[in-house]
Amino acid sequence: VKKRLYLGMDFGTSGARHALIDKQGQIQAQAKRQYPLYLSGESIDWMRSWKETLFVLLEDIPFDLRPLVASMSIDGTSATTLIINSSTGEPLCRPLLYNESCPDALPAVKSIAPPNHTFCTGSSTLCKLVSWWNSDSPGKESVALMHQVDWLLWLLHGKFGISDYNNALKVGFDPEQDAYPPWLLSQPYSNVLPSITSPGSAIGTLKEDLRNQFGFSEDCVVCAGTTDSIAAFLAARATEPGKAVTSLGSTLAVKLLSRNKVEDAHFGVYSHRLDDKWLVGGASNTGGAVLRQLFTDEQLEKLSERINPEVPSALDYYPLPAVGERFPVADPNMMPRLHPRPNNDAEYLHGILESIARIEARGYGLLKELGATEVDEVLTAGGGAKNECWTKIRERVLGLPVSRAAQTEAAYGAALLALKGASY
Ligand code: ADP
Repeated sequence: VKKRLYLGMDFGTSGARHALIDKQGQIQAQAKRQYPLYLSGESIDWMRSWKETLFVLLEDIPFDLRPLVASMSIDGTSATTLIINSSTGEPLCRPLLYNESCPDALPAVKSIAPPNHTFCTGSSTLCKLVSWWNSDSPGKESVALMHQVDWLLWLLHGKFGISDYNNALKVGFDPEQDAYPPWLLSQPYSNVLPSITSPGSAIGTLKEDLRNQFGFSEDCVVCAGTTDSIAAFLAARATEPGKAVTSLGSTLAVKLLSRNKVEDAHFGVYSHRLDDKWLVGGASNTGGAVLRQLFTDEQLEKLSERINPEVPSALDYYPLPAVGERFPVADPNMMPRLHPRPNNDAEYLHGILESIARIEARGYGLLKELGATEVDEVLTAGGGAKNECWTKIRERVLGLPVSRAAQTEAAYGAALLALKGASY
């Protein structure tokens, strides 16, 4: 039997990566590329950068491994939106990036959508679409809305108008009903919306010219993708309800696999569908950014060695890099609390790490109160995951097994989606 491999590609904010895995999830190849920057008039020609990077990533795959690739999938930045001419495939405007906001469309969106939904923010895909639709741009007769991932996958399989229910959440797709809601379908732009499939499901075979150009096999299939943050969660392989991933980067984000869908706009909590389960998430403003304001990474390491994680710290802080918190406490006026500061820096750090651990515990507690499955194990990603002392503090405070996730790269998560979509 021929050995088969599964390819995941991640299109992040500053660059792209690929990860090639085997059936057991072992990495066989991986690579990382920065986006080349091209200017088109005043703005950056992102589509050219992404397209070129896509083919550079394919070229980065060792030649002898390419015929073994059974399937591929891609994740990209959420709410990065492309408005495409559906007859020619050409863009009708420059791509609207994940962090761009179209506040001009908010009143129109709020007037049609249920209150406080995730697409009722200026940067949602729906606001971007409505903003373009309400402008006097020509070409409205034949338009297709694509997410970044849809477009990149389309370059690979050539089938138009397909997306996944993770990317489509912010355009208003209802993953629970598995349909666009009636209020959206009654809009004049409803026919530009893509048809929706589940992340990882096979869409079609890789285009013949690409197979020949790169040396992929005839049966290589292209699978539906997801967003970058979901792909990063998938990478940790937390596949049972109750398993969670805490990301300790600049901010603290928690993601919990749950049997039920949980939503609370007040706390910024919402759920993505993952097959028959829900990925419930919340994000606090506390996290590494505060640590970085106070200590270098080197100091963090040295000071952590001097902390006894078994001994509770009496210091009670609420570390924030600026005023305002959303989750697990919704208070836009919340003040950072980092005093009193003891003379001993290790003691100070101990108090901060323990306080952040309490915020994490409160976060999981809130998700449970809101109706999610109770957390029973926490994996960790991000810069704080390597701090073993903090891991022990968190185990004590959370009262749960806490460990570092073996894989945290979104590209690895996308490769797992490809594995899921392969027919063998
Ligand atoms: P992001 O991608 O969100 O910017 P990273 O996942 O790269 O963040 O993590 C960077 C953060 O990790 C920094 O804010 C830094 O303070 C924190 N960090 C780095 N080393 C340590 C450590 N040993 N212990 C705790 N936090 C750390």
